[in-house]
Amino acid sequence: MHKPSPPLEGPDAFHDKIRIVLVETSHSGNIGAVARAMKNMKLANLWLVNPNSFPDEASYARAAGASDILDRAQVVSTLDEALEECVMVLGTSARGRKIPWPVLPPPEAAAIAAENSQTGPVALVFGRENHGLSNDELHRCHYHIHVPTNPDYSSLNLAMAVQIMCYELRMLYLRNLEDGEGRPYLTPMTTPGDAGWDVPPAKVGDVEGFFGHLEQTLHDVDFHRRDNPRQLMSRLRRLFQRAKLDQMEINILRGVLSAVQKSSGTSAKTKPTDTGTDTEQEKGHV
Ligand code: SAH
Repeated sequence: MHKPSPPLEGPDAFHDKIRIVLVETSHSGNIGAVARAMKNMKLANLWLVNPNSFPDEASYARAAGASDILDRAQVVSTLDEALEECVMVLGTSARGRKIPWPVLPPPEAAAIAAENSQTGPVALVFGRENHGLSNDELHRCHYHIHVPTNPDYSSLNLAMAVQIMCYELRMLYLRNLEDGEGRPYLTPMTTPGDAGWDVPPAKVGDVEGFFGHLEQTLHDVDFHRRDNPRQLMSRLRRLFQRAKLDQMEINILRGVLSAVQKSSGTSAKTKPTDTGTDTEQEKGHV
């Protein structure tokens, strides 16, 4: 599969500008898993408010190769200290609270966080494993973020909630990034004709040659009746056009057709249509 070259990590990377703040985490293993989730998505700024146990063996064990994030984590005793220098605070919650607050889904929250991080640190705040953030803590936030989970089972594991937000930030960053030639780094899908595909795209004439060959072969093996074509060739055309064939795929398909013709003893009798235009027979059928 095409593997894009690593994106340029420019000065706009969120690396340090987004602060992941964990409030009173009880299981230090979760802190390690958060560090790993952050590093995977190229975030590095972790703040721990009054953790039950940190640093310890469990946190480093779960961090795998992300122990550098733990080494530079800031440990503070109050949420105030973690938020003091921030220009914006977004708090996460698994459920609705008494007083409704502006709630954002993760992609919109990431966009607002990214935009505001241009002017100063932005905090994403995550609560305790057993009872989340208190109402007081949530009221310190400009926005709340809710991951739209199953309403009957809405609470994510802490590190997974962090992972979702870090992923959204990463996607946002990559979508805005261009490669050296001004193309977006993150294309929805790589297909023949895109940079990095291993074989050039098939030319229209070659594809038409294949369709002619296909129709002839289907006729040879009595699958396609020219006196009663229905919409067979139109539907097959639509199918193969959707696949956006490359040159090698056309060669393979034509090889398959030739083999079918040979084994059915029709290759000598009939010659495939090689032109890039509709044949006389096709006209009027479709
Ligand atoms: N039982 C707690 C959930 C704690 S889960 C409660 O009902 O609030 C630990 C933390 O993970 C939460 O405080 C929040 O920061 C995050 N989290 C879990 N599920 C989430 C969801 N669906 N949307 C947003 N954050 C979530």
